[in-house]
Amino acid sequence: MTAEEKKGIRLSRQRETILAELCKVKTHPTADEVYDMVRKIMPRISLGTVYRNLDFLSSRGVVLRLGGAGTQKRFDGNPNPHPHLRCAVCGRVDDVEYPLALPELPVEQCMGYESLRCDVEFVGVCPVCAGKQV
Ligand SMILES: [Zn+2]
Ligand SMILES: [Zn+2]
Repeated sequence: MTAEEKKGIRLSRQRETILAELCKVKTHPTADEVYDMVRKIMPRISLGTVYRNLDFLSSRGVVLRLGGAGTQKRFDGNPNPHPHLRCAVCGRVDDVEYPLALPELPVEQCMGYESLRCDVEFVGVCPVCAGKQV
């Protein structure tokens, strides 16, 4: 086995571990939080590797990267479109389990964009933060 092949196997094992850890939680962790989770299994993994693999997985549509301008990117192991609740104070993100019809854009309104997906996000103050604001 060549060094390149060994490197390839190591990278895919790291990617698998990152994906498995992300799919275990429903907390929509940031890259830093995923790093903390994966480091317990692969103590020598670097933050850069976690970032690169999360970018790779989200660019392939395997995981979702949750936007939010100005906030830290969060990742979701469930790539199927589903609505979210986000706390405007602490940034926590929860899944909405209620089946909600997501809006669709007629093709003539898509301005040539492809692979469009609709992120529905309800923004508010989570119970923990609401409790703090007394
Ligand atoms: Zn909050
Ligand atoms: Zn989600």
